[in-house]
Amino acid sequence: MTHGVASSTDQLPLRPELRGRSPYGAPQLPARYRLNTNENPHPLPPELLADLGAALMRAAVELNRYPDRDALDLRRDLAGYLTRTSGEPIEPAQVWAANGSNEVLQQVLQAFGGAGRTALGFTPSYSMHPIICAGTGTAWVDGHRRADFTIDVAAAAAQVCEVRPDVVFVTSPNNPTGTAVALETIAALYDATSGVVVVDEAYAEFARAGTPSALTLLPGRPRLIVSRTMSKAFGMAGLRLGYLAADPAVVDAVQLVRLPYHLSSLTQAAARTALAHTDALLATVDAVKAERDRIVAALPAMGLTSVPSDANFVLFGRFADAPAAWRALLDHDVLVRDTGLPGWLRVTAGTPEETTAFLTALSEVVREHGAT
Ligand SMILES: *Cc1c(COP(=O)(O)O)cnc(C)c1O
Repeated sequence: MTHGVASSTDQLPLRPELRGRSPYGAPQLPARYRLNTNENPHPLPPELLADLGAALMRAAVELNRYPDRDALDLRRDLAGYLTRTSGEPIEPAQVWAANGSNEVLQQVLQAFGGAGRTALGFTPSYSMHPIICAGTGTAWVDGHRRADFTIDVAAAAAQVCEVRPDVVFVTSPNNPTGTAVALETIAALYDATSGVVVVDEAYAEFARAGTPSALTLLPGRPRLIVSRTMSKAFGMAGLRLGYLAADPAVVDAVQLVRLPYHLSSLTQAAARTALAHTDALLATVDAVKAERDRIVAALPAMGLTSVPSDANFVLFGRFADAPAAWRALLDHDVLVRDTGLPGWLRVTAGTPEETTAFLTALSEVVREHGAT
């Protein structure tokens, strides 16, 4: 055996199913307008910043101690937020929090997926779902959608009956397409499986009026899990706080796999402070939705179209060559996301200034290159 520095993962005794894979990552290229990761660009309210400083100072005094392992106060605050906004009474025992909803999903897969088990999700959808499956040794099966990206409930239920997955993912509103999934579809998928059904509601706060949350489906469905995040509507992507709501037994199950003290006392204090400012933080949601609708409304005049969006982004196209259009937009200082869907690109809706810059750049790109 020779000693030296391994220059590539090929030379390491890596798990075979991880060989040749790429880590998650949207290219973070320098651009004046970065509309590629669905963050909320509005600055945090100054009162919140002041309270955060004080709360973190108080928490810092106790940093010699481990944090509350069960994050009881934070879970009570999150349950209060969900109850207020969904109208569905959610108990603290039904809520679990971790460092971003990605960690929540990882814990769910550690508990309900893993070696010899299978997860199914309806692609195109959030690319992290299969990546977290790979990391936890869970096999992945692509679920089918129609050409317009909607889920055909009968076909989907039939596929779930055939594959018999242990975990079914439904992203609603879906990323990258933007559309919310009807509750009847989620209920039908639940009835079609004996596994857990994870509804990833990262963008729920941006849904169009009259789009109920899957939280309202929780009563009587002990295998249903709804995941949420403070990364998008709350504008706290840097905080890393995600959470789930489900039957209390699901919370007991994820506690079997979570690392002890996984959520730092600083994170818990900051998240509770942010939740105390919920109204001020979510005050920007309507403004962002207005920009989303402005983008949607401007596309037809350019010969473009979009997929109906309940999120803070728009999937727009169609382009004969989407990677070329992506590159041309970048040349105009606008970074959007090419999720690899032929003909389509995804843009985050943010401030009015960002929308104007994006629409101006897009109309120039279409004039120079054409659309379809
Ligand atoms: C952005 C996003 C998340 C957020 O993940 P965090 O780890 O909470 O930042 C989760 N699911 C979907 C579908 C997303 O697009």
